[in-house]
Amino acid sequence: MSERRILVLSEADVAAVLPMPDVIEAVERGLRAQAQDKVVQPVRVAIRNSAGFFGSMPCSIDGIGLGAKLVTFFPDNAKHGLHTHNAIVALLDPQTGVPSALLDGRLITEMRTAATSAIATKALARDDASIAAMIGTGVQARSHIQALQTIGMLRELRVWGRTPENATRLADWATGLGIKSSVAPTIKEACSGAHVICTVTPSAIPIVEETDVDPGTHVNAVGSSAPSMQELAPALVGKARLFVDTVEGAKVESGDILAAIREGKLPAEPELTRLCDVVVQPSSGRRSADEITIFKSLGMALEDVACAAVAVDRARSGNVGTELAI
Ligand code: NDP
Repeated sequence: MSERRILVLSEADVAAVLPMPDVIEAVERGLRAQAQDKVVQPVRVAIRNSAGFFGSMPCSIDGIGLGAKLVTFFPDNAKHGLHTHNAIVALLDPQTGVPSALLDGRLITEMRTAATSAIATKALARDDASIAAMIGTGVQARSHIQALQTIGMLRELRVWGRTPENATRLADWATGLGIKSSVAPTIKEACSGAHVICTVTPSAIPIVEETDVDPGTHVNAVGSSAPSMQELAPALVGKARLFVDTVEGAKVESGDILAAIREGKLPAEPELTRLCDVVVQPSSGRRSADEITIFKSLGMALEDVACAAVAVDRARSGNVGTELAI
C-alpha cells in the first residue's frame, strides 16, 4: 500500500491563501452546483452537551469536493478568551475516499457565512443599497462588514450592540476601513433608513420588530441558527419574502421561521426560495422595490467544502501548510 499523506492547514495558512473575494467566488460556485443538483448534504446533525453545541456537516459537491465540517458553538468560551465557534474541515479524495486535507475551519466559518450573506445581498437587496445596520458586534459582524464592503454595497454603517463599548470598537474599526460608521443607541435607530440589516447575535428572543424595518429592506438573519434561537419578530418574518439556504434545514433548524409558523404569521408550509435558485435565476428574487426580503442563513456544508477545496488547491501550489503521513 502506498503511504497516505494529508495536508494540514492552520488558521494562518487558510488566511494566507483565502482572501474574502475568493471566498465569495468559491461559495457562489458551490451555490451554482446546488442549483444544478450536484450537491448532497443532509441537514446538519447537531447534538449538545452541558456547555454547548456540536454539529456534523458532511457534503459531496460534484466536480468540487467531498468532505465534512465538525463545528462547535460554546457560548461561554468568550469568558475564557476563546472563540465561541470552532471547527475543523476534512477533505477526502472524491474518487478514492482517502483523506487528503485537514483544515482549521474557524476562519472558514467566519468568512463563508459573511460571503453567503454578501451573495444574498447582491441578489436580493435593491440595486441602490448602500446603508447597512449591523445588529451584533462579534466575529460575524466584522466579517459581514468586510464582505459587504467587498461587494461595494457599504457606504454607511450603523452598529447596534448590547455592550456599548463593543459597538464603539466595531464602529471605529469600520471607520478605519473607510466606511462612514456610527453607533446606534437602539435597534430601531440602527435599522431606520438602512437598506440592508444583518442580525448576527445568538439571541433566544426576537430583537428586531416588524416596525423597525422599512419597506424595501433586505435582511440577512444569520445569528439564530437553531430552533431555540430567534432574532426576528414573527410578524416581520410573516410579512417578508423568505430565502433560505436549504428548505429542509430551514423547516427544522430556523427558530425564526418555526416561531412565525407557531404564531400563525406563516402557513405550516411557507413559501421558501433557495438562495442558490436566485443566484442562477435572478428573476426569482426581489419582486418590487417595497418588498422586505429575508435571507435566513443557517449555514451549509457546501460553503465549507467549496472554500476548503480552493484553500487546499492554493496551498499546494504555493507550498503552504504541513504534509503529514497518516
Ligand atoms: P460572537 O460570540 O463573536 O458574537 C456574538 C455577538 O452577539 C456579540 O456582539 C454579543 O454581544 C451579541 N449577543 C450575545 N447574546 C446576545 C443577546 N442575547 N442579545 C443581543 N446580542 C447578543 O459570535 P459570532 O459573531 O461568531 O456569531 C454570531 C451568531 O451567528 C451566533 O448565533 C452564531 O451561532 C451564528 N452563526 C451563524 C452561522 C450561519 O451560517 N448562519 C455561522 C456562524 C455563526 P456582547 O459583545 O455583548 O457579548
